[in-house]
Amino acid sequence: MEIIKGIAGAPGLAKADAYFYRKNISKTAVVDIDEAVKISLEKIEGLKRKAENSLGEGEVKIFEAYKMLLEDRALISQIRSRIEDGDDAVSATEAVTGRMSAILASKKNEYMRQRADDIRYVGKLICESLCGAKQEDDKNFEGKVILAAYELTPVDTMLFDLKNLAAIVTETGGATSHTVILAKSLGIPAVTGVENIEKRIKTGSFLCVDGNTGKVTVDPGKEQLAEFEMRLEEERNFIEKIKSLKKSKAYLRDGEEFNVCVNIGNPEDLNELEETVFNGVGLFRTEFLYSKSQKKPTFEQQAEAYKKVIDFCGDEYVTIRTIDVGGDKIIDYLNMKKEENPFLGSRGIRLSMDNGEIFLEQLCAILYAARGKKVKILLPMITSVKELDWAKDMIKKAEERLSEKNLDFCRNYLVGIMIETPACAVCADIFAKKCDFFSIGTNDLVQYITAADRGNVSVAKFYNPYHLAVLRLIDFTAKSAVKNGISVSVCGDLAANLDFTEIFVGMGIKSLSVPAMILGRVKKRLGEISEKEAAKTLETVLSSDDGDKIEGILKKGERK
Ligand code: PEP
Ligand code: MG
Repeated sequence: MEIIKGIAGAPGLAKADAYFYRKNISKTAVVDIDEAVKISLEKIEGLKRKAENSLGEGEVKIFEAYKMLLEDRALISQIRSRIEDGDDAVSATEAVTGRMSAILASKKNEYMRQRADDIRYVGKLICESLCGAKQEDDKNFEGKVILAAYELTPVDTMLFDLKNLAAIVTETGGATSHTVILAKSLGIPAVTGVENIEKRIKTGSFLCVDGNTGKVTVDPGKEQLAEFEMRLEEERNFIEKIKSLKKSKAYLRDGEEFNVCVNIGNPEDLNELEETVFNGVGLFRTEFLYSKSQKKPTFEQQAEAYKKVIDFCGDEYVTIRTIDVGGDKIIDYLNMKKEENPFLGSRGIRLSMDNGEIFLEQLCAILYAARGKKVKILLPMITSVKELDWAKDMIKKAEERLSEKNLDFCRNYLVGIMIETPACAVCADIFAKKCDFFSIGTNDLVQYITAADRGNVSVAKFYNPYHLAVLRLIDFTAKSAVKNGISVSVCGDLAANLDFTEIFVGMGIKSLSVPAMILGRVKKRLGEISEKEAAKTLETVLSSDDGDKIEGILKKGERK
């Protein structure tokens, strides 16, 4: 038996035999480059059709992107010209796609980095076709298997009989890799980051995979297996329970209604929520509009995206956060300066103040898209009242501009702020008198309170959401909002962390905004909480002097 600690990719538990997928590709080309491109295109077409039948729109788009690359004359002619200069076809393909991919991977723009993966995958595909690699055509398994591999491209994954995949385990790929996205849309667990996978997992190894924690047990002993089976049974009951909560509102144990909203990054994220009851969008991160292409989105493109979401949500509020780039999100055309400490640099509202026209255009697009309806405008990275006042003036200017253009616009809007800097949280009592709502961004708030970069693994142990300072400031923020009669919600990752749900209720928070996947889990947890008990738990937590003790209290009573 061996217990491997990987990275939790997609949630859930599974046990089954492993199938280790290894590509044995010779390096000798047996067809020419034009033939290889043709074969690759046919493969992609076939896989795209399969994806259309079994997966969501997002996955189909991946195959469309591959197709476009294969049809890109410039790419193929670069490969051809290296072949003419004497390279063999496989080396030429590897060199050209490898170089292009490395250039794109070094870009800070997220859109470009994603293209780097696409080019790399397409390069591999052409090499396989060149060498006549017979893909393991539609590998059909007798029963469920756990697919293990060093790397799984979306193309590889589509070769398998998807309904028989119980889980995916890989060495490469992070929490946002294509493998993980695919596993999530198939609803199966995934663990990535398993070092030396080839030596540790073989075809036929029996695996217990825990996608919630990233733990993989290879050939478990009797005791471990029995324990895992018990958890599997609990997980099954749990999934049934959360499925049944899909169509109901969220209530506390005492019967009080509670708001659960979703966080989205683009309008397509709502597709899977057609049948689900939720209280609107608590956080619409609008950065995707700015990072998805190399050009600034037009007023019309923005308005269309916002309107789609507003229409989908009917009578519920959509909370649109104004552009929040900077930090780890870089947009080339915004002329952002290279900064030593970007998380302490020009980000969020600060960047909007440096790019007033872009901010104004976004506000116009929001107000125009919400004409005849209601909307919440959320401002990121606020540290002083001056910034809030400036933004409110800009909203007035947006109204004037739309009037001048004879365009109808929303008059029924609320203006709120992200509470994600300690400066803002400490002065929450003052801000509560100056805006309509608070949304607590715990991802940044925790990093700024604990002085630990949220993306730096070497200080991960200091990035401690259980720290008393974090809880004191969230509590003060919530109470300031309640006292001043404005609404307060949590939209950072802690909203989806069930350890914290009870104390958020205890603080008087009545709304949480979480990724769609987590909605059911949060509704279920809320149903176990009574306001009275929550207030007591909060009191105990706030009188503890140490993060470890707090973590212990909050983790008490095994929760998923
Ligand atoms: C946050 O900081 O908690 C938040 C929700 O914003 P983002 O993760 O987009 O910075
Ligand atoms: Mg933030």
